Amino acid sequence: MKTKEDLNHLLRRIDGKGYKAYKDIQGQYVFGQFRLHIDYVQGDPFASPSRLRLRVENRFPEWAWQNRSREVALRDFLARQFARCIRRFAKGQRGSGKSGAVFIDEPGQEILERTAVVLDGAEVEVRFQVGLPAFGRRIAGQQAAAILLDELPAIAGHSLFPEVLDEEKLREHLLANEDADALRSHLEELGLVAFVANGAMLPRASGIDPRPLEGGLPFHSPGNLEVEIQLPNRKVIGMGIPRGITLITGGGYHGKSTLLRAIELGIYNHIPGDGREFVVTNPQAAKIRAEDGRFVEKVNISPFINNLPQSTDTLRFSTQNASGSTSQAANVMEALEAGAQALLIDEDTSATNFMIRDQRMQQLVPKEREPITPFVDKARQLFEELGVSSIVVVGGSGLYFDIADKVLCMVEYQPQDLTERAREIALAHPQGRQEEGGESFGPLPRRIPIGQSIDAFKGRREKIRAFATRSLQFGASEIDLSAVEQLVDNSQLNAIGDALLYARQYMDGRPLAEVLDRVMADIESGALDVLSRRKEGHHAIFRKLELAAALNRLRSLRVE
Ligand code: ADP
Ligand code: MG
Repeated sequence: MKTKEDLNHLLRRIDGKGYKAYKDIQGQYVFGQFRLHIDYVQGDPFASPSRLRLRVENRFPEWAWQNRSREVALRDFLARQFARCIRRFAKGQRGSGKSGAVFIDEPGQEILERTAVVLDGAEVEVRFQVGLPAFGRRIAGQQAAAILLDELPAIAGHSLFPEVLDEEKLREHLLANEDADALRSHLEELGLVAFVANGAMLPRASGIDPRPLEGGLPFHSPGNLEVEIQLPNRKVIGMGIPRGITLITGGGYHGKSTLLRAIELGIYNHIPGDGREFVVTNPQAAKIRAEDGRFVEKVNISPFINNLPQSTDTLRFSTQNASGSTSQAANVMEALEAGAQALLIDEDTSATNFMIRDQRMQQLVPKEREPITPFVDKARQLFEELGVSSIVVVGGSGLYFDIADKVLCMVEYQPQDLTERAREIALAHPQGRQEEGGESFGPLPRRIPIGQSIDAFKGRREKIRAFATRSLQFGASEIDLSAVEQLVDNSQLNAIGDALLYARQYMDGRPLAEVLDRVMADIESGALDVLSRRKEGHHAIFRKLELAAALNRLRSLRVE
């Protein structure tokens, strides 16, 4: 095994040489309590930076990783601490291109399983990147030595060991994560699709800043919806949203969308201080919205859309350019195909004609000439026949009073339960419209994806790259994920890119849902590392719903 001195010698020897000579430092080095792996050396100072790993003995007490929730939270905590120490100890960019910069995949407001830090039995491994420094294209050996031999040990020494961490903060991080997982797993037995704790802070600092809004009004449940839940480390009280159809209504700017957004992201756990630590949602809840322009491949949208002009087939509806309503219908049907158990819909991002159709319009445009059956006529069937709940934000129409099990009305950011009042109004002012939903919900898609249609080659190399949580370059295609609103982290996109390739092995005549389940089961049993041959430091966990969403938006996708 090579030592710190060996690395120092090597760096001195190649100092001032052409950049390619850096390849010589690839390998493993032991220094003191660290084992440094230089796995991959970049080709030039402007290329994506070199990949390294540091391994140290796991000296954390067993309570910190005794179950999966705590282990994931510990790894998350270490990645955050490592990132903080990079800012503190790394001198940063020096020289050309990415010279001198040290990067780790830093978590945001969510606590996600990610590959930046992994624990395997006796050791902690941190995966990160370094821009090996150069002036022009000449190796800056001294600067490299400063980064690898001084800065890295300082960064790691202040982040990867229990004695250097704030034990109280660490404990809070782990126990909050454990409690959020427990809370989510209780939802089903309590008959709830979501829970929002009293005291939660739902609004964000701004549209581009996901931290909590300072001075916002804390959430408070209406009395009759309050439930109290005992968790491993605390008791929580808050609003339980029961299964069924829930309407969130109220005046404009009174907090409807903010509540729904918090529920959408309740599929993830949040860090202490986020304000949404105990806002949790059914893990298979899917945000649905209109997304005109999207690609659709042979999706059965017939429960919502029939008799399109030019007798376009809606049992196997395909398009390169969906409309608002057909895209929203496809989004619902694809989510159901991938196993969604609840749908979350906001009028702000919905096609009006997908959501409602009133009496006057029924008279002007008879059913025979309107291809769309609005969601208001299908939501009850969805729940009664398929057990799929809906939470719908509608402030602009009372049509949903007739089908809602619960009507929440936001008044100055606080929900009131106005179910009874809405029912009285519905009785006093009947709509006189025809229900258009038919006998039953109708068939679900059951498509069989063709593996050969998933190709990540760009020229002679496979190329997968995520951009700003909005799009994924996949070979020669670009997958637009900007309307897939429950993706929160660019590393989820990276992992999904690799998962699309990984999924091909199961595309041998199986239906899509089964392919997705296989991939998720492999990740569950073998961790995210199953997705990639190399030790990837930029992967974060995702759900099968988002994997399906990416596959469904890959324009080369073909199904049998
Ligand atoms: P709606 O969908 O009802 O029109 P939004 O949810 O978009 O309203 O909220 C309107 C504004 O109020 C947003 O700027 C949001 O950040 C803010 N807001 C929402 N909830 C709260 C709260 N609890 N405290 C303070 N401000 C809030
Ligand atoms: Mg709104």
